[in-house]
Amino acid sequence: MHDLSPLRRLIQSHPLIDNHAHNLLNRESATDYDNYPLDAIATSADGRALENARTTLPSLRAISQLSELYGRPCADWDDIQSAHDESVREDYSTLIRKSLSGAHALLLDDYFSDDEDIESSSWHDSFTVSPTKRIVQIEAMAESTILQVSNSRKNGESVWNNFRQRFQDALGNALDDASIVGFVSEICCRTGLDVDAYSSDDTTLGGSLIRILDSGTTKSGFAVDDKGICDWIVQQTLKAISFKKKAGIVKPLLFHTGLGDNRINLLRANPACLQPLIAQYAGADIVLLNAGYPYTREAGYLAVTYPNVYLDLGKVFPMVSREAQVKVLRESLELAPANRLLWSTDGRFHPETFWLANRQFRQALETVLVDYVQNGDFTASQAMKIAADVLFYNANRLYSLNLTPSYTAAE
Ligand SMILES: [Zn+2]
Repeated sequence: MHDLSPLRRLIQSHPLIDNHAHNLLNRESATDYDNYPLDAIATSADGRALENARTTLPSLRAISQLSELYGRPCADWDDIQSAHDESVREDYSTLIRKSLSGAHALLLDDYFSDDEDIESSSWHDSFTVSPTKRIVQIEAMAESTILQVSNSRKNGESVWNNFRQRFQDALGNALDDASIVGFVSEICCRTGLDVDAYSSDDTTLGGSLIRILDSGTTKSGFAVDDKGICDWIVQQTLKAISFKKKAGIVKPLLFHTGLGDNRINLLRANPACLQPLIAQYAGADIVLLNAGYPYTREAGYLAVTYPNVYLDLGKVFPMVSREAQVKVLRESLELAPANRLLWSTDGRFHPETFWLANRQFRQALETVLVDYVQNGDFTASQAMKIAADVLFYNANRLYSLNLTPSYTAAE
């Protein structure tokens, strides 16, 4: 019989690299429940659907687990809110430190970084062992480029040429910036993952851009929701990162897939829609976020058949039930190579989102890996390597982070 305690200990305590998360709220906004509801942290529902979501398994489980974080019994979200309130008022830093415990480094998608309610990426450095790195959202980058084009719009000048040049320059700058380790696309919740491998002609794209410019600005700028332009943004990014990879610099493109809010078209959120693009841009590294849930098997299939595809296991922790989380891990391991699996919390706004995700992930990983060892699928030492790879080393390698975790197996 194997001694499983070193494996269990490693899974519960090995430092982790969180390869996709968002910035935390500042102390003042951390109790602004109108804009950042606490009971939304274990669900994709919002608005009126949020009331029903309070009775889901993930929501009820979050309540009982958070009681443990606060060190006092909580029966419902009202109790959680007063415990959170107290922690923020008394010592917000301690709540964050506890919530991020075990996180060696964060890769933050700081899309909301202009927002005055959240802290900057570098602010998070004091809570992790290694400095925070950034992942740039390409649609947000395109929107700020369109704003620049709009501000400098001149009669007779091609807005498309102007935009194309500025966007490519912005991509180039991001590729040269050492604090940026990758890009992320939210095309999944805009026009869907059925991205054309080839772009439309310049006249069509120029016409679409003029329509966007003429439709005026939203509160945060121009909204890019035209399929031709959204596809072009993704294609340009993949071209640029493939080109840079030839020079030895690897920065992957992460796609939100599957699980999201009601803005997504559930059918076009299937990562299988990305297959032609993945095949076309074989030189670019691609990460499928959110375990592709509920299309985890499709995502695993892509990760085993295309060497440029990685599968991220985030967001399903804490968004789906405990059994579904175990199933997601089993389905990921059905086909996907263990060296292609990445961990992320997709944590955002409230520190509790990080704590819940990390805790539930470690629990599910222990359940699954211990079971496989007991059934002879692999040895305890192979399972320990898989756990350390998924938690730390796969992301360390993919994003060229060169970090060293402080962990001794023999302790
Ligand atoms: Zn995210």
